[in-house]
Amino acid sequence: MIDEFNLETVLKSLIEIDTSNPPGRNYGRIIKLIEKQLSSSRCKVEIVETPKKRVKESISEARGITGERVNLIATLERGKGKTMILNAHADVVPVGEGWTYHPFKLTRRGREWYGRGVADDKGPLAVLILVFNELATNPDWQGKIILASTIDEEIGGHAGLSYLLDVGLLKGDYCIVGDGGIENITNAANGCLRFRVTIKGRSIHSSMNWLGINAIEKATKLIKRLVEYNADLNRLNSKIPANPQTGVNWLTPSITVGVIRGGTKVNIVPNICVLEIDRRLIPEEDKSEAVTNFKNILEELSNIDVDLKYDIEVGGFHDSFITSIDCEVVTTLTQTYNAVITGKVNVYGTLGCLDAAHVAKYKIPVVAFGASRVESNSHGVDEHVRIDDLLNFGKIIEATVLRILKTEEVN
Ligand SMILES: [Zn+2]
Repeated sequence: MIDEFNLETVLKSLIEIDTSNPPGRNYGRIIKLIEKQLSSSRCKVEIVETPKKRVKESISEARGITGERVNLIATLERGKGKTMILNAHADVVPVGEGWTYHPFKLTRRGREWYGRGVADDKGPLAVLILVFNELATNPDWQGKIILASTIDEEIGGHAGLSYLLDVGLLKGDYCIVGDGGIENITNAANGCLRFRVTIKGRSIHSSMNWLGINAIEKATKLIKRLVEYNADLNRLNSKIPANPQTGVNWLTPSITVGVIRGGTKVNIVPNICVLEIDRRLIPEEDKSEAVTNFKNILEELSNIDVDLKYDIEVGGFHDSFITSIDCEVVTTLTQTYNAVITGKVNVYGTLGCLDAAHVAKYKIPVVAFGASRVESNSHGVDEHVRIDDLLNFGKIIEATVLRILKTEEVN
């Protein structure tokens, strides 16, 4: 069992390194620190720098992303057996305004710790480091335990977890992504797709607007149609249950117009209006079908109005995933959870996108499970975590790994 004092020491040093992403700073420094924190386990450590080419190709929001992309894979191996991957991310979202506490100093208040990343995801990362060190000296397992400390989760994981899997550096039979809530276990997540639509009109002085084509007005036709489309999508339910606190009982798809840009001056008919659109897909949906449906909507509108001219860019795809609730990693995690924390834990899908989808793509059964709660205000000001949630998270992970990799009984 991990010790609160050790946890505070490890977490404190992780919090003190500012790994805000974007831009994604100090990755090299934090990975070196983690390597040091793992040294007592005498594990094999690989430090993997993601090639610049991959970073450039895969991060569409490359603006504002600077510095090296470094990940760490630590491995303990003993005898024959299965491989369990434990993962947590070392990057954090930028601090923002209005903190009461110093975001890069670990502050204790009663049974809570404050600081950027204590809940998402340096708290769980610190726990996994200590659990890994403990398992190194525990004789009751065989096989392989891998701790993958990755980066860039906050911008899609393409230079982090996804890269390690794509190049074959990370392989396993089970994976627990130590990121997310402590109140339930996540076995599925929605996917995401982004569209940028540029509506093209014709500029003219506003005093003769009948001679121009107003791109903003044309865009309103699309917006109106997308509101209806969203209502249709909201009526589609996945078979995966969602946390009822989100307002829905099942994972649900949606489409949102998130950004609109158009017009240069009040007396000019605008010739361009750009819409950025976010489409969320349930795991049962097909990405290419979603793209076709979206394109059809625009085509129908332009068939009715010949002056509605547009370009579409499709990008920013993030996979959805489902891990069966009957698979060993889910059932064992559920059992150990119920043994450590009294009560009956629910297994839900989440509406947001998760790095775990990169793991599921390689047919590795994966779940996401962390130590945060809604009250933790992850990504917000004064992010905090309950110390007891981190300690329980550690107990649950350790017991789960030991159960899954238990030493074969000798007859
Ligand atoms: Zn996270």
